[in-house]
Amino acid sequence: MAADLHAHTTASDGHLSPARVVHLAGEKGLAALGITDHDTVAGLAEALAAGQEIGLPVIAGIELSTEAEGREVHLLGYGFDWHQRDLLAFLAVMRQARYRRCLKIVARLRDLGYDLQVADVEQEVRGEAMGRPHIAAALVHKGYLPSVDAAFKTLLARGRPAYVPRTRVPPAWAVEIILKARGLPVLAHPGLSQVNDLIPRLVAVGLQGLEVYYPYHDAAVMRHYRQIATAYNLVITGGSDFHGRPGDTHADLGSCTLNAAELERLMERLQKIKEQATKDWAPGIYFNK
Ligand SMILES: [Zn+2]
Ligand SMILES: [Zn+2]
Repeated sequence: MAADLHAHTTASDGHLSPARVVHLAGEKGLAALGITDHDTVAGLAEALAAGQEIGLPVIAGIELSTEAEGREVHLLGYGFDWHQRDLLAFLAVMRQARYRRCLKIVARLRDLGYDLQVADVEQEVRGEAMGRPHIAAALVHKGYLPSVDAAFKTLLARGRPAYVPRTRVPPAWAVEIILKARGLPVLAHPGLSQVNDLIPRLVAVGLQGLEVYYPYHDAAVMRHYRQIATAYNLVITGGSDFHGRPGDTHADLGSCTLNAAELERLMERLQKIKEQATKDWAPGIYFNK
């Protein structure tokens, strides 16, 4: 029985609603599903309810975008208390940063001669977290470019004329905030991010897992991260990074999974985190560093 622990929904930049992703996972015969939207927990209530309805375990998850020395680093969180006050405050700050960045990109596109308003981008957003994919979709709808992919390649990707960097938090903060909400912090797709040097530092602040199974990790890369996970006593996770947009470059749901034994180890570790008291964490510390 296989579990896919990395999937996006309309709550962030996925194409299918949380309930539809859960139903799709059921149709594909998955044993468990992790919903990991970018910087938001807005899709979790619907996903968990849908999971309960069809008897599919859904693990509350999130994917946080952070930055270390100019590199984008994604942190996944699993099984946290998604009503926790500090976590919600942290996510609101992350989304504000996304929104401010979108305003800057739209202004830059107008300078470049594109007739685009923030309202056009807002029409593309179905969840909470506005991002570059929504700007790309607005450009496609206005007929400026043939596809989201083309919009990124021509204008929005790093090094292109409408690229605006986002102010991000360091990955250690994301690890801490997930732990504080009594969840399991996991380094996402390490093979994609090229951040091996960060692993010991993140382990020191409480990192608990590595996303070993990922569509862009080949057999050698997976073997490498499995060894690192063993060396640092980290649990192994994996998933497809499903986005559900027809014809996009992301993998299909269930195409990359972890097995039942690995899922069990992950759940055991999560249980351990929950049992360890979190009362010694000072509230508000994350915004004072
Ligand atoms: Zn990612
Ligand atoms: Zn993702």
